[in-house]
Amino acid sequence: MWVQTKDQIKECIETYKRGVAYVDLDAIISNMDAMHAMLRTDTKMYAVIKTNGYGHGSLPIAKALESVPYVKGYAVATAEEALELRADGIKKDILILSYTFPYSYEELIREDVRITVFRNDTIGQISAAAAAVGKNAVVHIAVDTGMGRIGVAPDKEGLDFVRRTLDAPNIIVEGIFTHMAKADEADKTYARMQLDSFRKFIGDISGHLGAVIPISHISNSASILELPDAYMDAVRAGITMYGLAPSDEVDMSRINLKPALSLFSHITYVKKVKPGTSISYGGLFTADKEMLVATVPLGYGDGYPRSLTGKGEVLVRGRRCPILGRICMDQFMIDVSVFPDIKEGETVTLLGYDGDEHISAEELGEKSGRFNYELVCLIGSRIPRVYTLHGAPVLALSST
Ligand SMILES: *Cc1c(COP(=O)(O)O)cnc(C)c1O
Repeated sequence: MWVQTKDQIKECIETYKRGVAYVDLDAIISNMDAMHAMLRTDTKMYAVIKTNGYGHGSLPIAKALESVPYVKGYAVATAEEALELRADGIKKDILILSYTFPYSYEELIREDVRITVFRNDTIGQISAAAAAVGKNAVVHIAVDTGMGRIGVAPDKEGLDFVRRTLDAPNIIVEGIFTHMAKADEADKTYARMQLDSFRKFIGDISGHLGAVIPISHISNSASILELPDAYMDAVRAGITMYGLAPSDEVDMSRINLKPALSLFSHITYVKKVKPGTSISYGGLFTADKEMLVATVPLGYGDGYPRSLTGKGEVLVRGRRCPILGRICMDQFMIDVSVFPDIKEGETVTLLGYDGDEHISAEELGEKSGRFNYELVCLIGSRIPRVYTLHGAPVLALSST
């Protein structure tokens, strides 16, 4: 449930001490501004908010970006994601980046959602749906220049697909795009090959078909940071909008990006244990001295990786405290022996800053063997999100 009044937000924060994620909308806007400053002045941005905004929450992010002029619109992965944003009052363009199943075409056309096309059967289906709705469908054509996922090949057959789409009744071709497979690698040879292939295909479309498709786009986050040649009419900013790194090969020092998401919990139990006491399932950890052990009420059921067992750390009072033994579904234990006066109720930082100490999604990703994208996407729906703008909480999504 969304809550908006000051008292409701305060209550949400107080109630959900088990675990709460803060999403800093100022950081999101600042990250978009920082990227926009690198672009050509005429290049627009799509904010990629698929998978509920990489776990951060798509609606508050879209709301925060509605009034930002260079944001052309939003990119999502499914019809449901697009329609939910529309139902919640989001007005800017919404583009579905992957294959969209025919059951949703009429609704999507009614709601002005851009559909990505690349399959032969889709053209007739969308054309018919548009006729039934009595409104033109707006589509983007996906081209496969080396990702091997979706899209028509940039060859004669692909050109024929573009021609048929341009000629189809009730369909407006607004955009054409391709996706890079290796833009996040230090060696940009493959990314440049994809860019060249895409440019050549666009040249073929104008040369052979006499058509100019208004919006061509190729860049993802890594390419925004490291491949200025690829800006074109628009870029698609994903992971960097959230302040996270596309990979460890991308040079993050060239831009000031701020991680938007922090994850906190609170200690529910503190106990002194004797030497020889084993902790959690399987007894993987056994105390070799007297220790102070605290229980944190959050676990892999909330998306906190079980693979952090024996490796992870959290922050308490600005210091790193190791995780002891297995992460359970809803709880795990930490060593707080350094704080003899530690109390139940104290804050535990799983992701984010506590004083000068910091745990990043990249660190958790590396330690857990999980990709940083995946880590934030999987923060569970049991974790309420609290959104801050201009430094103050503005909106909260309470736990489901
Ligand atoms: C997810 C996605 C993006 C965003 O990728 P990032 O690496 O997060 O910037 C861009 N384009 C397409 C087609 C995608 O699927």
